[in-house]
Amino acid sequence: MAKKDYYEILGIDRNASQSEIKAAYRKLALKYHPDKNPGDPTTEERFKEAAEAYEVLGDEEKRARYDRYGHAGVKGEGRGFGGEGMTMEDIFSQFGDIFGGGFGGFGGFSTGGRSRRANKGANLRVKVRLTLDDISKGVEKKIKVNKYVSCKACKSTGARDGSAYSNCSTCHGSGQVTKVANTFLGQMQTTSTCPSCGGEGKTITSKCTECYGEGIVKSTEVIPINIPAGVAEGMQMSVSGKGNAARRGGMNGDLIVVIEEEKHPELIRDGNDLIYNLYVSFPEAALGSHVEVPTLEGKVKIKIDPGTQPGKILRLRGKGLPELNSYGRGDLLANINVWIPRKLSREEKEMLEKLKDSTNFKPDKEQIDKSFFERMKNVFH
Ligand SMILES: [Zn+2]
Ligand SMILES: [Zn+2]
Repeated sequence: MAKKDYYEILGIDRNASQSEIKAAYRKLALKYHPDKNPGDPTTEERFKEAAEAYEVLGDEEKRARYDRYGHAGVKGEGRGFGGEGMTMEDIFSQFGDIFGGGFGGFGGFSTGGRSRRANKGANLRVKVRLTLDDISKGVEKKIKVNKYVSCKACKSTGARDGSAYSNCSTCHGSGQVTKVANTFLGQMQTTSTCPSCGGEGKTITSKCTECYGEGIVKSTEVIPINIPAGVAEGMQMSVSGKGNAARRGGMNGDLIVVIEEEKHPELIRDGNDLIYNLYVSFPEAALGSHVEVPTLEGKVKIKIDPGTQPGKILRLRGKGLPELNSYGRGDLLANINVWIPRKLSREEKEMLEKLKDSTNFKPDKEQIDKSFFERMKNVFH
């Protein structure tokens, strides 16, 4: 199913300001807040949708990527987007500030009996350098990362043996603490993770000697990553569960892969198009010729018509880069230049002197203008 447009979800213009975006989100969040619509799955869906749209549009960098590449540009961002979706708890912890309340912003919400919050390992960021060749075909990269993995000695419990635990004195083993507070929606009860035991409900009395009670140890891992064709500099992909392991047995963090693009020696990237600066000699331009143009699939011969002017752009359809998550492909644009020799032999000089006064060699005003407008049309598609 196609994802909804974030601007549409928030009901705003594509050039809305940050404060307009924030205001639109706040309005929707209040309207669809689960406390106001208990047990209604549609409003909860709306609420989550709005939060996801706000996470992207509320961040200038993510918004720019979204504007340029659509949902593909922000895929795998944030917590679990595209995968299991955001949980209500994520939304409150991330956007609490927008509601202006204290703790967790909204005065929390009272879903009694929510399961104890598990630890989550930190996300890891790695950069991957790709050539245009890699980007053209898509590539599998094996990345070596230094990270925390769970401790085998204590099975990531952090305790020296299975019984070296006692109940947490702050939460008496429940892992949660409850507060009552006044908010603009009335008096509300909030339940949050116990700060003393981090929600585990237990404290360790005798620590594992391998991991000093943390349940995780440093290690290296080689992680294969499939990078789809058509990615671009600065894009991020997230590989779920491949980040750091969590302290004492929680969920792994994610591995965030940031794309870096290596410059090609001859081709310049412009979106999905490639540009090549093609020099031909004056006789080649005047007489016509066949010349070679490099592409990502090897050299291609192209025809230069007699009388070709510098600045003319020849478009090689489909010789550019593939579109990310799509079937389209960009073009290769060969921008023609005419090379003028810097030094001439006496014979060459004599030949050119003879041509100098020929009216046929004088620039033709009408044709110059035409070729200029043609070129500008090409440059701006
Ligand atoms: Zn251990
Ligand atoms: Zn506790």
